[in-house]
Amino acid sequence: MCGCAWAGPGRPQNYHLTAEETVKAKAFARARNTVYWGGEAVFLAALVGMIKLRTGARLRQAAEGVTHRRWLQAWMVVPPVLLVVAAVEIPFDIYAEIVSRRFGQSIETWGEWAGDWAKAEGLVLAIGTLAAWGLYALLRASPKRWWVWAWLIAIPVEVAATVVEPVIIEPLFYDYQPLGTGHPELVADIERILHRAGIAIPPGRLYEMKASEKTNSLNAYVSGFGPSKRVVLYDTIIAKEKGPPLLTTVGHELGHYALHHIRNGLLAGFAVTLFALWVAAMALRFVAPEAQPGAWDTVPELLLVLSVILFLLTPAMNAYSRMQEQEADVYSIEVTHGVVPDPGGAAAQAFQIEGETAFADPSPSPFEVFWLYSHPPIADRLRFSLDYDPWRAGARPRFVAP
Ligand SMILES: [Zn+2]
Repeated sequence: MCGCAWAGPGRPQNYHLTAEETVKAKAFARARNTVYWGGEAVFLAALVGMIKLRTGARLRQAAEGVTHRRWLQAWMVVPPVLLVVAAVEIPFDIYAEIVSRRFGQSIETWGEWAGDWAKAEGLVLAIGTLAAWGLYALLRASPKRWWVWAWLIAIPVEVAATVVEPVIIEPLFYDYQPLGTGHPELVADIERILHRAGIAIPPGRLYEMKASEKTNSLNAYVSGFGPSKRVVLYDTIIAKEKGPPLLTTVGHELGHYALHHIRNGLLAGFAVTLFALWVAAMALRFVAPEAQPGAWDTVPELLLVLSVILFLLTPAMNAYSRMQEQEADVYSIEVTHGVVPDPGGAAAQAFQIEGETAFADPSPSPFEVFWLYSHPPIADRLRFSLDYDPWRAGARPRFVAP
């Protein structure tokens, strides 16, 4: 057993919010839905508007008047399109931040928020322009098969991006330190848990993220691939959950790690990329039949087509994510069984704490779950944790040998 006893709120029977909290949770969900659907609508409308105004052709003519170098032309055509999109979306970004503050999540200053927004937008411009430059080079070189070449190139690019993301991108927004630096006792408990599963994660792969400077949200995640694969815990969740509930949250993240969810997600991503590029190639011929292949004129059209495809794939990608999250919840209970007293009850406590901190909706509509939920609803996760007990039923655990 872990030396991790903790007098938390006790074993809940259901995800429970007070009447007042429920009203808040419903209002929070409505506000986030407004941000999502409103943001999608203006994003697509801005692209349609640019297509109607022949923005791509105008930008191409202007760029060709300045230089004949394709990579420079890319920088003159793509960023303006992306900046128009960013401009129409910024009211929704600001509203999302206001809502996040009103519901006690974000505690950033507006200066910090603007700095993070600018960094994120800079990344979008840089990556978007490079990607467009590559795609349009392929469109010119191979007007019929460009999407196949693009896919073959996208595979190593997606892998490389996943490897460097926690090393280059994440530190732009948050500070990290090895988990052992501030919480050696937690690392010792994690090692005890892993010993049960028969897997080893070097302590150097466990990190604490200094989230509390910007947010009250409780979270943990797994990111990276190969040499950069890691488990990250927000300092907020370490401070608030403690003891067995925290260890079941860690168990969930170890599940993502041990069950190779990032690798599997990458493989699924390759399939999505191939499908999206194939549909985009057909759709581009349909929406811009007269365009010369590889001319910059179609940048807004291509962005619109790819965005609509990804938008329509959202429910499928979220269904896949919910399946992985469910597996990680199972893993969490199995891997902490015998180490943490009453792991199902501890996981239920963790979900209760996380849910009431985030004002998680106790009863989202089936459509909201279908379209937007990357995790099963928290009430379902809590109930499942209380009910999952293969040992009592004499059944075989799914992932961790008894
Ligand atoms: Zn997860």
